[in-house]
Amino acid sequence: MMDVGFIGWRGMVGSVLMQRMRETDDFAAIAPVFFSSAKPLPQPPDIGRAVPPMRDAHDLDALARLPVLVSCQGGDYTSEVHPKLRARGWNGYWIDAASALRMKDDAVIILDPVNRPVIDAALARGVKDYIGGNCTVSLMLMGLGGLFQADLVEWATAMTYQAASGAGAQHMRELLEQMGDLHRSVHGRLSDPAAAILDIDQTVHAAMRRADFPRQHFEHALAGSLLPWIDKDLGDGQSREEWKAHAEANKILGRTNGAEVMLDGICVRVGAMRCHSQALTIKLKRDLPLAEVEAIIGSANAWVKVVPNDKRATLDALTPAAVTGSLDIPVGRLRKLPMGGEYLSAFTVGDQLLWGAAEPLRRMLGILRESGNSGTSKLN
Ligand code: NAP
Repeated sequence: MMDVGFIGWRGMVGSVLMQRMRETDDFAAIAPVFFSSAKPLPQPPDIGRAVPPMRDAHDLDALARLPVLVSCQGGDYTSEVHPKLRARGWNGYWIDAASALRMKDDAVIILDPVNRPVIDAALARGVKDYIGGNCTVSLMLMGLGGLFQADLVEWATAMTYQAASGAGAQHMRELLEQMGDLHRSVHGRLSDPAAAILDIDQTVHAAMRRADFPRQHFEHALAGSLLPWIDKDLGDGQSREEWKAHAEANKILGRTNGAEVMLDGICVRVGAMRCHSQALTIKLKRDLPLAEVEAIIGSANAWVKVVPNDKRATLDALTPAAVTGSLDIPVGRLRKLPMGGEYLSAFTVGDQLLWGAAEPLRRMLGILRESGNSGTSKLN
């Protein structure tokens, strides 16, 4: 049995992690201790057997007794607690969904179907911090990773269509409240086939601009609209979400010191619930036949699925509605662009709470178990 502390298990990423661990029977080999920062402490999650009493997420003694900690609590918690644990000599494995440690030199971004060799090399040299990547970056690499691994990409742009869930549970609820508000504003006229569409449209617009329109979390209307800025403004025209594409993807791929692939794009929030989509333009290093490109993409891992580039297959399989709740990563709209045989278009969709958040953490626990790297903490 591997002793593992779980912090942040009741949030959105943590809940999906618990769900996946129950589905895959991971708790059969794990002795969990659950932590929370809530007061009073909540009941631990149901894993089908008795677990130790819930612990306070700021109880450093209790945390330091464990050889492995998994946090889905958030960046502020990580920034506060992780350095204190390390400062007092805790030498265990820290697995985290938050971005706080991602770009640190002594941390590895985990996405094992794409970078297992990077993870194995890090374990061998004693790295202890393993951090889940940005959801959009992880989903892009799960879909198009074959082209990167074959060193076929000169540069790529990703124009994203990111779901409300990427901003958290409250944002998902607010999107639905906005949808409901807009619908209510025209409810009577929608049921009247003779009602003028321009009147309906104007009323919807007026509702979006009302002072009491539900926008506490997004600050703007997302339903019936979109938000072409995600995360902080870096002050140079790029959003922090856009910056992550190049920085994190190259770190995941282990590409440094001039071997980086240029990646950039525009990140856009849309009114999808929990699947991120992205449209890519890729400049290949060579003009390969499309069938070969499809074979490389489709054989990169067990979850990527190439969708034929026709209307029916695309609308059946390449939408958030089709992909939600699935680990599959469909990639479609593959076609050579008129600029030349090296220019490829692609569209990919993925459930951002699975491969984009919880699944890499769950699998990292499995890698620690397999590799026998789950020994007890020095402070035990
Ligand atoms: P979240 O839903 O806001 O949950 C984070 C924590 O907030 C919970 O674990 C819980 O911790 C606390 N919390 C306070 N009130 C709560 C309530 N009423 N219900 C449930 N939890 C409550 O955040 P999240 O979306 O899971 O994200 C967690 C971290 O993962 C963040 O750093 C985020 O950036 C990162 N991440 C998120 C995504 C995503 O898609 N959302 C993807 C990749 C990475 P306590 O039990 O300790 O109070």
